[in-house]
Amino acid sequence: MESYQRQYLKEMGVDVWIDRNTTIPDSVSALEKGIAIDNDALPTKGYSAELDSLVKQVAACKQCCLHESRTQTVFGVGNPQAEWLVIGEAPGADEDRQGEPFVGRAGKLLNSMLLAMGLPREQVFIVNILKCRPPDNRDPKPEEVLACESYLRQQINLIKPKIILAVGRIAAQNLLKLETPIGKMRGNRYQYPDSDLPVIVTYHPAYLLRSPREKRKVWEDLKFAMRTYREIA
Ligand code: URA
Ligand code: SF4
Repeated sequence: MESYQRQYLKEMGVDVWIDRNTTIPDSVSALEKGIAIDNDALPTKGYSAELDSLVKQVAACKQCCLHESRTQTVFGVGNPQAEWLVIGEAPGADEDRQGEPFVGRAGKLLNSMLLAMGLPREQVFIVNILKCRPPDNRDPKPEEVLACESYLRQQINLIKPKIILAVGRIAAQNLLKLETPIGKMRGNRYQYPDSDLPVIVTYHPAYLLRSPREKRKVWEDLKFAMRTYREIA
């Protein structure tokens, strides 16, 4: 394990045993070489024409009433050829303002979780179930999830990730069409409906900010996700 990984695990609040057999994903070297974040170019850099056109379609969407209260849509961000797709719930206030998912406090912790897996944020693709912020951060309504669903499916079809990490109950239950409590979903390998794309579930980083004791469980989930990735890659 590299020292920066240990540092991020520490930030996550996880004590680490070093397993000599642990192999570090190739992505680690990308991080060590340093990846510049070019904020101006972030939204559509390197996107295919199809993905670019989907961005524009989402930006103009009025398919549910959330379009009335949003500042802007939050399409998602990352490497358009990402192998890992991270799916959260919906934009919050910071995300609504900046147009990018997971940029608030929970987002910082998500970045740490990803780095602990050897994945710099820029290497994955990050999206939400809903592309617009629900007022006062209330839970998404079923009709909103339904209205927004085809965008997520199109994102998955275009990005073609190898594995999905669903963070939090709302993301996991809506993605998998299950009502299973999230605590029971952990540690299982699910499939995105009508595909053989594996889905691994863990707690939401916002929940971890409230319940830091659960960080160890999240690290177990992330290790499970890495093992699953290695099996299929
Ligand atoms: N929480 C989410 O689920 N998504 C975001 O983009 C930000 C916070
Ligand atoms: Fe359209 Fe989704 Fe926004 Fe609703 S949440 S307006 S369906 S982009």
